[in-house]
Amino acid sequence: MPRAERRTTQRGARLLRNALYTPGMALLGTKTYKNYIAGEWVDAVSGETFESTSPANGEAIGTFPLSGEEDVERAVDAAKAAFDEWRLVPAPKRGEILFRFGQLLADQKEDLAQLMAREMGKVLAEARGDVQEAIDMSFYMGGEGRRLFGQTTPSELRDKFQMSVRMPIGVVGVITPWNFPIAIPSWKMLPALVAGNTIVFKPATDTPTLGERFVELLVEAGLPTGVVNVVHGGGGAVGEALVRHPDVRVISLTGSRETGVAVLKAAAEGLKHVHLELGGKNAIIVLDDADLDLAVDGIVWSAFGTSGQRCTAASRVIVQRGVYAELQGKLVAAAERLRLGAGWEDDTDVGPVINEQALEKIHSYTGIGRDEGAKLLTGGEVASDNGLDRGFYYRPTIFGDVEPDMRIAQEEIFGPTTALIPVDSLDEAIRAANGVKYGLSSSIFTRDVNKAFRAMRDLDTGITYINAGTIGAEVHLPFGGTKDTGNGHREAGQAALDVFTEWKSIYVDYSGRLQKAQIDTD
Ligand code: NAD
Repeated sequence: MPRAERRTTQRGARLLRNALYTPGMALLGTKTYKNYIAGEWVDAVSGETFESTSPANGEAIGTFPLSGEEDVERAVDAAKAAFDEWRLVPAPKRGEILFRFGQLLADQKEDLAQLMAREMGKVLAEARGDVQEAIDMSFYMGGEGRRLFGQTTPSELRDKFQMSVRMPIGVVGVITPWNFPIAIPSWKMLPALVAGNTIVFKPATDTPTLGERFVELLVEAGLPTGVVNVVHGGGGAVGEALVRHPDVRVISLTGSRETGVAVLKAAAEGLKHVHLELGGKNAIIVLDDADLDLAVDGIVWSAFGTSGQRCTAASRVIVQRGVYAELQGKLVAAAERLRLGAGWEDDTDVGPVINEQALEKIHSYTGIGRDEGAKLLTGGEVASDNGLDRGFYYRPTIFGDVEPDMRIAQEEIFGPTTALIPVDSLDEAIRAANGVKYGLSSSIFTRDVNKAFRAMRDLDTGITYINAGTIGAEVHLPFGGTKDTGNGHREAGQAALDVFTEWKSIYVDYSGRLQKAQIDTD
């Protein structure tokens, strides 16, 4: 089918879907979706499918291909074939497609946010923020099409010129989690595309509709056939096949530490570039001189926003003893005011968690905290009143008198649970904050500029906030963490390009004779 015709068909399908869909309401019937390989929407080779359902109320959202190795092979073949031409498209032209994509996302922002509230569960304001992040990334990376800066340096020899340039690598495997179903694919795919790579994308099985919409809009923006492909299915069947495929040169994964380790091991044999964004156990420090009301706002947003399911969520609050009792009182009162409900309802503060397994894991940590001797101050239970039993809701939970080495203060819970840890001094606070295996985000509330600067220097995390929570990254600074949060790479900002490009150093000798570096230098 010619591209123009295909685009019209896709636009028609979208209009029809929108016509059936009133924001905040259930779709009138669900749809069967397909993989997108070599410019065609196709079923899985096996013909098998899986369902996406809403964590808010269990309603069915869509049916997706349950793909396997053969589907991955087809998608990688398509991406490999497309690379030869895509890498030669001038980068500013590649960037223009990203600008168009950003505009399409902006046009679709409300529709995508409503869908996200249903499929992933986050509240609408946050869902809009998730889409906005992808819009910002589109325009930022679109601009890279006219930058992609390399370096020129002087030569030690006469009549010689030298420079370094960024080269695309080839086929990139993109594997994403469900918690930022539009933003995270944008962090990976947009820098990969503007740099001239082609993509096989495996979205999380909990949010496949949003992954599909993302690709649909990229295609509508004008990406040529084969440049982006989507293969739906599980981490074992699709993710692993992608990681092991010899023609996939780069893997970019956001997920749990355990998945990251498995991916790194599987990719080692092929010496692939592996970019990992993994878990967090982020801490907010509140010192005696802090603005406590501001700190409470920051903690509530960071601990309970997205139902605590952010890699940057504040699951620890390290509090100097002088303000511990007052902060605890204000925090518990604020948490108890939060209203649980479906993300699309106007008065909802905290939406559901992603699935039953997550609900069980979060609740098991309440038991673990109690058994360890921490004091349960509020929450600690599954919420099932007023129809909440149709979804997966957990009450915002705060533990007090937590020791830094307790499991609830060490392990990623990924739910609306936070632990208050009393300390005597800034030094003790920083030791506790750093005393976990992860190193993503940290924050300190203080009015003392000297203490703030010591914290900026000494907190061992990839991101540090002063007088704000642990959440709030913008797309033009590097995003990622130290220690077990990753493997040294960063998303966003200029740093993102390092994942998706190889440096090539080029030497041009225009002296007309053989000049030997380090030897003919006199
Ligand atoms: P997950 O690790 O279970 O899954 C992530 C993705 O990896 C999914 O698409 C999954 O299907 C796939 N996968 C699973 N096993 C695989 C394998 N063996 N090979 C290849 N792919 C495989 O994580 P999740 O539950 O979707 O997301 C939550 C986790 O993601 C948390 O640990 C959170 O901290 C982390 N996260 C990190 C960041 C960050 O930027 N550091 C951002 C968001 C989420």
